[in-house]
This record gives sequence, C-alpha cells and structure tokens, in this order.
Amino acid sequence: MKNWQCRNCGLYIRVDKDRIKVGNVIVFSKVVLIQRYKKMKLAQGVVVGREQEKFKVLHEGVYYFLEKDEVYPADAPVFFLYNMFGECKCLPKNAGKRLR
Ligand SMILES: [Zn+2]
Repeated sequence: MKNWQCRNCGLYIRVDKDRIKVGNVIVFSKVVLIQRYKKMKLAQGVVVGREQEKFKVLHEGVYYFLEKDEVYPADAPVFFLYNMFGECKCLPKNAGKRLR
C-alpha cells in the first residue's frame, strides 16, 4: 500500500490504469442481490483481455466486461479510500516518482 502514497502530501496517488495488463489481478465492484436488494461487493478477477477502455475479466469462472473506470489493480488502494482520505493533487509533478 505504501507505494501508492504520495511522498509529498501522504495522500493516495491516482491509479494509472494504462499499466493494467493481461494477466494482472484487478478488483472491481460487483452487484449482488441480497434478499432482493442490490448490494455492491468487491470482487477480484484476472484480466484476460483488453480493448482500449474495456477490460475482459475472469472472475469465478465468469467473464465480465468492465470499463476502465470500474477496475483497480488488486494492490492499489480501492476507490473508497480516495473518498475517505482524499486523493493526491500533486500530480503531474510526482508522476515520475511513483511506484519505483
Ligand atoms: Zn501528493
């Protein structure tokens, strides 16, 4: 999780989804029905195909076609963390420093 934190402000750095490749594990939110109520649940899947802004993801034997906005690398802080703690606004200054 540390790699995703900005060294300057300590907030999370926005995920660069162009780094997501076939074979990577991603997280997405899946709609599940619980007693007729729709709930969002986090699910993990493997990217098996990618076409520009769309990802084909295999999760529990089922293929999901997800938009770029809907997927996050499995090792990234998930989207609700951004809402909770805020997102780094230092970009693009720190863009080159992140990850490695
Ligand atoms: Zn920052």
